[in-house]
Amino acid sequence: MELDVAIVGGGPSGLVAGYYLAKAGKRVALFERKLSIGGGLWGGGMMFNAIVVQEAGKHLLDEFGLEGKEYASGYYVLDAVDVTTTLIHKAVRAGLQIFNLIAMEDVVIKHERVAGLVINWSAVDTLKWHVDPITLHARYVIDGTGHPANVTEVLVRKMGVRLNTSTGGIVGEKSMEAGQGELQTVANTREVYPGLYVSGMAANAVYGGYRMGPVFGGMLLSGQKAAQEILARL
Ligand SMILES: Cc1cc2nc3c(=O)[nH]c(=O)nc-3n(C[C@H](O)[C@H](O)[C@H](O)COP(=O)(O)OP(=O)(O)OC[C@H]3O[C@@H](n4cnc5c(N)ncnc54)[C@H](O)[C@@H]3O)c2cc1C
Repeated sequence: MELDVAIVGGGPSGLVAGYYLAKAGKRVALFERKLSIGGGLWGGGMMFNAIVVQEAGKHLLDEFGLEGKEYASGYYVLDAVDVTTTLIHKAVRAGLQIFNLIAMEDVVIKHERVAGLVINWSAVDTLKWHVDPITLHARYVIDGTGHPANVTEVLVRKMGVRLNTSTGGIVGEKSMEAGQGELQTVANTREVYPGLYVSGMAANAVYGGYRMGPVFGGMLLSGQKAAQEILARL
């Protein structure tokens, strides 16, 4: 209930962030709405269960003990199931506490800063039952909820805050430009509001980056960057 970092979303960026934070000895927990952890990583491209990681993300494959098959110079193809299960396994073994079937429904605000989460069982959230949630405190929160940027969306909708984006709100994902999109995913991984970081596709959605298809290096690098920046501040 008292965390250094609370991560919302068990996709690749959230898992990698959780791995590095836990490995550094921080009190970190990840909350995932679904039964299974892994987000969109399982499906690969169009459910062919293969993903691509570019050279920039190769050191992360090495860190997790994953071996890709070099398809073209600097592009590695991996089995999506192997990658997903390995990220989960290594993150949990590093000390990340994962709570599946838990939904973030709101944030805690203290002194104009995101200071925690309001959570409930996913089933309660889905069925809209009249059950009070519980509250936990965290020094930092990571929005790793993918395309909906769910944590940031709640903050904007309920608090009417102005974000440090080009529009002051959630800009929304742009059309396909894979090369730029991969770079932007990492560049857009940052603190979007005091106490709240965005990672992965949520970072792209919030700041308006290009989409890029089943190239997952940016997702992994984004998680690593979020963890590094938070660790420097903790
Ligand atoms: C339309 C579409 C476009 C895509 N485009 C790209 C692309 O351009 N590039 C690319 O690499 N991949 C793309 N993908 C594939 C995939 O979504 C991402 O690459 C990758 O899975 C995103 O990782 P992530 O870490 O951002 O989070 P995700 O894998 O999206 O995982 C987010 C997790 O957060 C959970 N979550 C959401 N809200 C809550 C909440 N309130 N409480 C608790 N948990 C919550 C979800 O259940 C999910 O498991 C796309 C997928 C779709 C459907």
